[in-house]
Amino acid sequence: MMQEQELHATEMERTFIAIKPDGVQRGLIAEILSRFERKGFKLVAIKIVVPSKDFAQKHYHDLKERPFFNGLCDFLSSGPVVAMVWEGEGVIKYGRKLIGATDPQKSEPGTIRGDLAVVVGRNIIHGSDGPETAKDEINLWFKPEELVNYSSNAEKWIYGVN
Ligand code: GDP
Ligand code: MG
Repeated sequence: MMQEQELHATEMERTFIAIKPDGVQRGLIAEILSRFERKGFKLVAIKIVVPSKDFAQKHYHDLKERPFFNGLCDFLSSGPVVAMVWEGEGVIKYGRKLIGATDPQKSEPGTIRGDLAVVVGRNIIHGSDGPETAKDEINLWFKPEELVNYSSNAEKWIYGVN
């Protein structure tokens, strides 16, 4: 019990989620936010930005050898992106579940990409794929002071602690 309380106070997992320019242009910001919010995850940072191509290349550096890398970075920097940090137990892995498979043709119905996107090059949302990338991506997109620590009244109903 003590351990759980400490976890909630200090060490809750965080992930980086971004609505890409296609999701913003298609008017899907509220729809996507609501799926994370209704699940019980907590929004701790959010901003709307147009990333530079250089910044997009940093974000997707792992993919620089892939044939679609240049087009992907052009696309990410082509318009506003909604950058967010979400917090919660298991949020990295479960965030990816909410998002669905990379190719929307293979994403299950009920997932964000399954319900709202059709092709891999326009799959509307990004989510960190593990604890290391989550940390790196949060640090790339946000300054520490842009992350807001707060407790929400819903937490005791979502987690059943205290
Ligand atoms: P994610 O973690 O599910 O977003 O997928 P990846 O990290 O493998 O790829 C990053 C992004 O690159 C994806 O979300 C797609 O937008 C894009 N992408 C991945 N594979 C392909 C592909 O085969 N073709 C194109 N055009 N884009 C791709
Ligand atoms: Mg990825």
